[in-house]
Amino acid sequence: LYRPFYLQLTNIPFINYSIQKPCGPFDVDKLSSIQKQTQAKLRIQMDGNKCGGTPIQLQLKEKKKKGYCECCLQKYEDLETHLLSEQHRNFAQSNQYQVVDDIVSKLVFDFVEHERDTPKKKRIKYSV
Ligand SMILES: [Zn+2]
Repeated sequence: LYRPFYLQLTNIPFINYSIQKPCGPFDVDKLSSIQKQTQAKLRIQMDGNKCGGTPIQLQLKEKKKKGYCECCLQKYEDLETHLLSEQHRNFAQSNQYQVVDDIVSKLVFDFVEHERDTPKKKRIKYSV
């Protein structure tokens, strides 16, 4: 009915009891690559210290960008651009979230609700 799905490895998973504890027992195959990764991470961290930790943040952002929007049933290349697209904004402002609101309306609000700080108060705080 559906196309078969394969996985071919040079080494199939092997339970490694001798590896130190928090490590997964299947890490043995990747041990060399993990060492490389940790070395790379250390390098990134060292670089990050030099230029304010930007490399790690950039990498994370790039990974998050691409994806699929379940509201628009559409793939997107860049998350931020998609969120600003007309189709997505129409959905975000539509009544499609009624199902969420219906559930939220059954919850009890029991936090202390403060009045909004007026801008004047904030300015005083910052100036002190
Ligand atoms: Zn969308």
